[in-house]
Amino acid sequence: MKRKIAILGSTGSIGTQTLEVIRDHSDIFEVIGLAACRNAELLQFQAQAFHPQILALDRPERLNGSLPGCRIASPGVEGLVEVAAHPEVDTVVIATVGAAGLIPTLAALRAGKNIALANKEVLVMGGDILMAEARRLSRPIIPIDSEHSAILQCLQGEDYNRIRRIVITASGGPFRNWSFEQIQAATVSDALNHPTWSMGRKITIDSATLMNKGLEVIEAHHLFDLPVEKIDVVIHPQSIIHSMVEFTDGAVMAQMGLPDMRIPIQFALAFPERLPRNDPPLDLPSLGQLTFEPPDMERFPCLRIAREACRCGGGYPAVLSVANEEAVAAFLAGCISFGQISEIIQSEMDSFSNPSRLDFEAILAIESQTRESIRKRFGLAGQALRP
Ligand code: MG
Repeated sequence: MKRKIAILGSTGSIGTQTLEVIRDHSDIFEVIGLAACRNAELLQFQAQAFHPQILALDRPERLNGSLPGCRIASPGVEGLVEVAAHPEVDTVVIATVGAAGLIPTLAALRAGKNIALANKEVLVMGGDILMAEARRLSRPIIPIDSEHSAILQCLQGEDYNRIRRIVITASGGPFRNWSFEQIQAATVSDALNHPTWSMGRKITIDSATLMNKGLEVIEAHHLFDLPVEKIDVVIHPQSIIHSMVEFTDGAVMAQMGLPDMRIPIQFALAFPERLPRNDPPLDLPSLGQLTFEPPDMERFPCLRIAREACRCGGGYPAVLSVANEEAVAAFLAGCISFGQISEIIQSEMDSFSNPSRLDFEAILAIESQTRESIRKRFGLAGQALRP
């Protein structure tokens, strides 16, 4: 029987690559539901190619073509939940961006679905609650993020109690060799120019600030149940080693491959099996050298702030993630400089203190309070700050 897949965020970078993987293995996978935020034209095209049973768009009235046999879901987050919880779906690919994936991920878990997670902010914000739910319901959360996929692959057949530490690799982004002053004044097009990975805009800016790596530290803390002290980051500009696990006997396992997101996507969809791919093999002699350097927390303060948020726990990672979303949107909209991204996040963290009880509603309240606080800074209270 085919594995039945729903994709939230199907028109983004991970969503479109997920559909490529499904098309390459159409004997194994079948699309049941697709959901997108804005791109009506591409969503419609995808629906005509993959024949889903349910389709969601933030404003569904923008879908106008004929889609026989396909139900159109409700607008907004409700539509994402309808797709995620559709009774025929086995696995939900969460490829939304930012906090948008939080409510549908919880809904998918509670509807008994397997989760293939690309939207790391979901775990950063709600990791304590989501991992507890996943354990309670015995549903797996399989990471699509290449670093976490690498760690999961290194841990197959291993006892998690034998982990000494994990080492997450980072390309270093476009500003790896820039001075502090140059980075502070970097433009949007400088920051969108990533050296090794082709990705969506938000994550590309996060890679330039190294916040992406900070969010990944918190994501790994939840996925592998490790304290932040056991999660290291190393800069590896070639992006060939996707991450490593060091065991208590000193052995280090690394997962390697060309930087191609279809590999971790396919691994997550087929887990625990492996399916073939026909890409060219990894040619190490032509690569020549794999190099490593420590991350510089002075030039890239976002990584330091994220580690601190992970150490503090509770609602701090949610504040970090939402403040970062808003600051990145403000940077992309031309409202702030690159250097101000980390300053805004730090100042939101400084003015926060943990609530006595951190349930799902408290996380959502932290999200709206943090967004409102940042918009007030720009005199935009009540408005969305989206480029
Ligand atoms: Mg990653």
